[in-house]
Amino acid sequence: MNAIVVHYKELALKGKNRPWFIRLLVRHLKVALAGLHVRSIRSIMGRIEIELGSGSWDAVRERIARVFGIANFSYAGRSSHDFHELASAILADLGDRRAESFRVSATRADKRLPFTSPQVERDVGGLIKVAKGWRVDLDDPALTIHIEMLPDGAFYFFGKEPGAGGLPTGTGGRVACLLSGGIDSPVAAYRLMRRGCTVFFIHFHAYPILSRASQEKVREIAALLTKHQLRSRLALVGFGELQQKVVLSVRPELRVVVYRRLMLRIAERLARRWHARALVTGEVIGQVASQTLDNMTIIAEATGMEVLRPLVGMDKDEISAEAERIGTFPISIIPDQDCCTLFTPRHPSTRVRREEIAEAESALSIDEMVASAVDGVVMEEFRFPLIESSAGRAVT
Ligand code: ATP
Ligand code: MG
Repeated sequence: MNAIVVHYKELALKGKNRPWFIRLLVRHLKVALAGLHVRSIRSIMGRIEIELGSGSWDAVRERIARVFGIANFSYAGRSSHDFHELASAILADLGDRRAESFRVSATRADKRLPFTSPQVERDVGGLIKVAKGWRVDLDDPALTIHIEMLPDGAFYFFGKEPGAGGLPTGTGGRVACLLSGGIDSPVAAYRLMRRGCTVFFIHFHAYPILSRASQEKVREIAALLTKHQLRSRLALVGFGELQQKVVLSVRPELRVVVYRRLMLRIAERLARRWHARALVTGEVIGQVASQTLDNMTIIAEATGMEVLRPLVGMDKDEISAEAERIGTFPISIIPDQDCCTLFTPRHPSTRVRREEIAEAESALSIDEMVASAVDGVVMEEFRFPLIESSAGRAVT
């Protein structure tokens, strides 16, 4: 076997955009598989075929599993339409594999082919049954042999690997995610990526007042998430000095909201530079004092940009389970010194009033603070896979 058949599902629903979606998916697969033994990648009649050179398919599988827009994919063999040739090829690849029972499940990509799917199932299935002596079980077979008839030949495969789902990267536009290094925001970023958005990361840190730990964590998270979108940018914003200014004039219980509003203003400036259309946060209603509905509303009023909160209605354990699944959880729980714990009281107000925030902010030179933070930003680039000539931080 030297092919992989990639199936997309949701894409099929997208009408006129479909060819564009498929083109992006193919392009994305080409980049994701760079450096591996892949001969060609092409779209044929509702699926994508990847032709492999010689080598193991494990590395290929691992990379494809992270590409969004794929429902499932299979390691497959190719043959002509001839039922005898097809059955022999399947038998050769089955080798000495055993199965209690089996069935053949066939589809035709082109309805003009001169045979029906049930005919393929019956005839090829019959030849395999004779050769192997296996029992046919149509309802609950131990092994399903899939056959897909295409105009220029057939694919066969014995199992399906789940794909990452979602939509191909690049189909959803650009967004900027405020990435804290906690558990929630990496999951929020992942969710937008899965919907086809390209996510730009923005992290606020209080180095040198606090350690560099949060930056290190966020870099690791950015590198991990880059395996999905293949190219990322991370903006590291020094926030400690701004916090020191806030502390001088803002009452302790209002500080978290003032910090968050500053973050959003800075994030908006950076996002516009990068032509992002929305900001993304990992906020969840009721999780902490700054995330009551009242406070979240006032925080979002600091920006004219759309603020997307993909986790807003989730429980912490659901978010943690998703963080485990995508691999960010172990990084997120490494202790760090988040800038938001700096100069923040243990009991911030859960219900700030618009007027008191406006008054607190009037004592600050907000525009200058935002401008100086934006000026001092440090940009980092991440790429996956890292190919010789490309610049950026290696993601391995
Ligand atoms: P998280 O687990 O994402 O840190 P959290 O439950 O700790 O979330 P908060 O710390 O209140 O919640 O942060 C709410 C959201 O604000 C975060 O999900 C993130 O999007 C953003 N945010 C908070 N701190 C930072 C930071 N230092 N840098 C970038 N974004 C941040
Ligand atoms: Mg946090």
